[in-house]
Amino acid sequence: MTTQRIRDFLATRRPDGPCLVVDLDVISDNFHAFRHAMPDSAIYYAVKANPAPEVLKLLAGLGSNFDCASVAEIEMALEAGATAARISYGNTIKKERDVARAHALGVSLFAVDSHEEVEKISRAAPGARVFCRVLTDGEGAEWPLSRKFGCVPQMAVDVLVYAHQLGLQSYGVSFHVGSQMIKVDAWDSALADAKRVFVQLAKQGIHLQMVNMGGGFPTKYLRDVPSAEAYGKSIYQALRTHFGNQIPQTIIEPGRGMVGNAGVIKAEVVLISKKSDNDDARWVFLDIGKFGGLAETMDEAIRYPIRTERDGDEMEPCVIAGPTCDSADVLYEKNLYPLPISLTIGDEVLIEGTGAYTTTYSAVAFNGFEPLKAYVI
Ligand SMILES: *Cc1c(COP(=O)(O)O)cnc(C)c1O
Repeated sequence: MTTQRIRDFLATRRPDGPCLVVDLDVISDNFHAFRHAMPDSAIYYAVKANPAPEVLKLLAGLGSNFDCASVAEIEMALEAGATAARISYGNTIKKERDVARAHALGVSLFAVDSHEEVEKISRAAPGARVFCRVLTDGEGAEWPLSRKFGCVPQMAVDVLVYAHQLGLQSYGVSFHVGSQMIKVDAWDSALADAKRVFVQLAKQGIHLQMVNMGGGFPTKYLRDVPSAEAYGKSIYQALRTHFGNQIPQTIIEPGRGMVGNAGVIKAEVVLISKKSDNDDARWVFLDIGKFGGLAETMDEAIRYPIRTERDGDEMEPCVIAGPTCDSADVLYEKNLYPLPISLTIGDEVLIEGTGAYTTTYSAVAFNGFEPLKAYVI
């Protein structure tokens, strides 16, 4: 949504070129909504969604913990005021020397999904706590995370036993149901898997303590999404179903759901044209595209709300494309996007729900276009 603060900022500052404006008040509201919806879960903000220093500082001040995927992200979280005890190194793919650097910085919680990674951690961060990520099917996620991360639950048992044997603290199980998960009950089967891993390890005398339930909480784009409250209720139900009255410590790692709706990209219409005289659809070219930060339009997975000053006028379906000389730089073509017929070259458009996964996905200078500028207000 475009808040009044964002409107006022754009009206008074009139920044030139495409830019993202992030409203910290919205992030603060989102944090409190998660806190309220899942009061027993520790919140680990997934830094990659939007690592702007102001965002990290706000969240550190509100009491958030941080899910980091690299040493650079760990340093950013520390810089923002988080202590190392509030940081999880959640990437299952780490160089051993990066594990050593994180360990030296005081981080003691690491993700793994293989025996090989356990060996690195036992050497570079002896005695650390590790949690093993299990695969999920991603069913119901609009931006699924595929099979890249995690292992099957049976292997997670072996990995955690191995970690124990190598002197690490086998601490828990993690999963990620897939990003922009619109089914509130998607956590159920993953929690059932987690419970099975707990049981198998307990049989070997290893008592896990934590379930990291990952991210996946959605942002409202064109369609409505369930509230944080609805996710909280459903997840709590699933925890009760599978863990009874012995619910372990839990962690959530919201990225998109924490910052997505806090950002709006201001862009400009560069060209409106047709490919032939009897072409049905007009092509609307913006000064931002896939390489300027809108990478999640890949396969048209994420459909951002686009506002114009002519939204009351009659609409017609259009192709929307970015400004670069790469033919992949088309945002919406398979599913045409309705825009006002009166839309004109030079008009400004507001692309809403762009607070997550935009600045970090922006190329440095493809075709000489500057990386996406961001203002955090
Ligand atoms: C990216 C990521 C998240 C955040 O996911 P969202 O769907 O944006 O909430 C959480 N945890 C891990 C391990 C991630 O890689």
